[in-house]
Amino acid sequence: MWRQRPRTIAVIVFFMGICVFGGVNGAPVDLPLSCFVVHCESTRANEGMFLDLSDLVAFADTFGIPLTIDCTAQWAEMILADARKLDAASAWLVAGREIAGHHHAYWATLDRGAQWDGYTNTSFSELLPILQDRYLGMMDEYMALLEALPGERTTACMGLGDGRDLIDWPEALLYGTAGHLLVDCVSEPTLVDHAGFQTWQITDGLILQEPSVLPAFYEATNGDKVFAVVGHAYNFAEDRRPFESWVRFLRERDSDGVRRRTVTKLIEERLNDGS
Ligand SMILES: [Zn+2]
Repeated sequence: MWRQRPRTIAVIVFFMGICVFGGVNGAPVDLPLSCFVVHCESTRANEGMFLDLSDLVAFADTFGIPLTIDCTAQWAEMILADARKLDAASAWLVAGREIAGHHHAYWATLDRGAQWDGYTNTSFSELLPILQDRYLGMMDEYMALLEALPGERTTACMGLGDGRDLIDWPEALLYGTAGHLLVDCVSEPTLVDHAGFQTWQITDGLILQEPSVLPAFYEATNGDKVFAVVGHAYNFAEDRRPFESWVRFLRERDSDGVRRRTVTKLIEERLNDGS
């Protein structure tokens, strides 16, 4: 993942080509607004992973990165059950970060490696019998846990890649993130329909790229776009180099942090000023 590969080099050359031929004097007009999203997975809601997340939060803070921390219901439950973790979550908000939602929906996880988190608005009788023992509740119950965390829930990555999961979208949520591919790093707020609920959505791409890929892509992206990455605390615990490479670049390029936002702040700002 971290070594240079021919495909990666081709990607860099492609982006640099955009940079040279796509902008005025080869430079973007302005820097894109950037977001950094962290997913807290239902299968990893445990003490060790909370410590890894705490490390990641502290690390991001030293680089002035306002994380958007997407919690599954299992993480919400773990945090709510422990006063020390609840204090930590409150402190995340004080420091300008956002606590958002994350969900692995039922239908979308049937045919891919990810595991369903046990919450769905699909009726129990429609669930595969072998998965019925994983059922934890409807999305109202999911949201009750998420909303009990400090702050307000407005954004989530709900993983509704299968149309049958669209009914899972909680009415209270206004904004969303989706994606994981490199090209998903760049987007602009787009109105998406979730079974009748209109939400503004941006995409994000996985941070696990070789060192120069994200900087080259960012440089090639115009200032009217959004540049968002997503990672996990366990990625950070396993190998912090991709994180370090990206945030060091961002701190150099956006030294005052004026182009960094949480997801909700970014989308609301773009909707308000239309820029
Ligand atoms: Zn996930």
